[in-house]
Amino acid sequence: MKILMVSAEAVPFAKTGGLADAVSALAITFANMGHDVKIVIPRYYKIDRNKLTPLEGPMGIPVGGGEAWTQVFETSMPDCENLKVYFIDHEQSFGRDGVYGTPAETDFHDNPYRFSILCHGAFQLCRKLGWIPDIIHCHDWSASPALVFLKHIYRYQEFENTAGVLTIHNLGYQGQYSKENFASFGIDWGLYYGAGFEHNGGINLLQAGISSADMITTVSPTYANEIQTPEGGFGMDGLLRVRSDVVRGILNGADLRSWNPKTDKRLPKNYDFKTIKDKAVNKEALQKNMGLEVNPDVPVFGIVTRLADQKGIAELFAPTYGCMYNMCNNLKIQVAVLGSGEAWCENEIRTLESKLPNFKAYIGYDENLSHLIEAGSDFFIMPSRYEPCGLNQIYSLLYGTLPIVRRTGGLADTVENYNEATGEGTGFMFDCLTPGAVYDTVGWATYAYYNKKDHIKKMQKAGMSKTFTWDKSAELYLETYKEAIFRGCHK
Ligand code: ADP
Repeated sequence: MKILMVSAEAVPFAKTGGLADAVSALAITFANMGHDVKIVIPRYYKIDRNKLTPLEGPMGIPVGGGEAWTQVFETSMPDCENLKVYFIDHEQSFGRDGVYGTPAETDFHDNPYRFSILCHGAFQLCRKLGWIPDIIHCHDWSASPALVFLKHIYRYQEFENTAGVLTIHNLGYQGQYSKENFASFGIDWGLYYGAGFEHNGGINLLQAGISSADMITTVSPTYANEIQTPEGGFGMDGLLRVRSDVVRGILNGADLRSWNPKTDKRLPKNYDFKTIKDKAVNKEALQKNMGLEVNPDVPVFGIVTRLADQKGIAELFAPTYGCMYNMCNNLKIQVAVLGSGEAWCENEIRTLESKLPNFKAYIGYDENLSHLIEAGSDFFIMPSRYEPCGLNQIYSLLYGTLPIVRRTGGLADTVENYNEATGEGTGFMFDCLTPGAVYDTVGWATYAYYNKKDHIKKMQKAGMSKTFTWDKSAELYLETYKEAIFRGCHK
């Protein structure tokens, strides 16, 4: 199949979250299966043009108010020569720091215009390459307008046999802007209502994508159900229920090239289940690195996260409400945190650090440290309010680090709760997101650590023997693509 991935981010070029990992990993899997797949993303300021190959000539993109003149660059995905990645270079839109925004302007005011360039540009790129895909696979709100353009414009041109698939990586981000921004798309005002942009008097890019896609996927089966409920639907549940016949939940895999404890180049010492005693070397390195007391006998609880409400940070860190202070004060544990995000939370974490000798944090983004925390911790805390798929609990399972999770979304689909009677399971789960539930579950894990060592070992083994490769997910995506072609292009 010919597949074009349209995305705002893709590793290793631009990443703000798990979406970037998923897009590249899925595309690499397709390329290795022999499919003809390409990725298109913007050329952000930090992506070095000198390392890319320019395509000949400029590329004009029709957007609101005229034509945007861009240049396109090409490169191959590292270690996957036949997967080409294309970068749309438009200085005015992408020549700045940040994918969606900066700390000062968290959501760029001109995002509809910027992503209109990406979305119209995807079609112009195909024309430039003389390559018409069977599938345009758009990721999240920022690529959603491409589905509208396909359905209402380009399918009446040479894209008549191209189907559009939307993957929702996180329904909490929808791309909502004021009505005037509709002009950025350079399309008929009839489509303001006609294509499903209208939302509370403004525009909602994801809603338009949900309305226009031939098939819709999200990144775990449980999340596919949750987004169709008022609790998990972020206002889109009604529309998603209307479209429920085309909604599929396909679990993300993990990129085992970089997340495998046996081969992970970032670790002081590699290990697998047979050599799990070597995990202790990583634990010692982590304790040293974070400034925790070096002690192999105290359980280390790791956290790697965006500091955003979705991740349950209030229940962990909010002053007086969160459970972290009491947890560290009352239990014989150590906690290592890596994260960045909301300012109040960063400050609160620094305050906790000044009060608790067994709580250490690094505020920032650090890929190496994230691997060391996964390898060096005994447990991983992930009390998400909602979690479309989640990657860190998957990495934790693979690294023999037992996840402590709320039973929601992809966490519910990947972790099995500890059975005290048999020692079966792969982690510790709770249902209601309250500070008390997080505290109790961490306490439960701490009890097992000190008193049920055989159970802990059994659970580590069960988790480490799981496979989270992309191959199975890729097969399910291919089925979805076929259905999209059937639904969208059966003229
Ligand atoms: P989300 O996409 O909602 O942030 P996921 O669990 O799906 O959550 O993916 C998060 C990814 O980002 C993981 O690969 C995780 O290791 C990484 N990550 C998050 N915060 C940091 C950080 N501060 N430093 C390094 N990696 C981080």
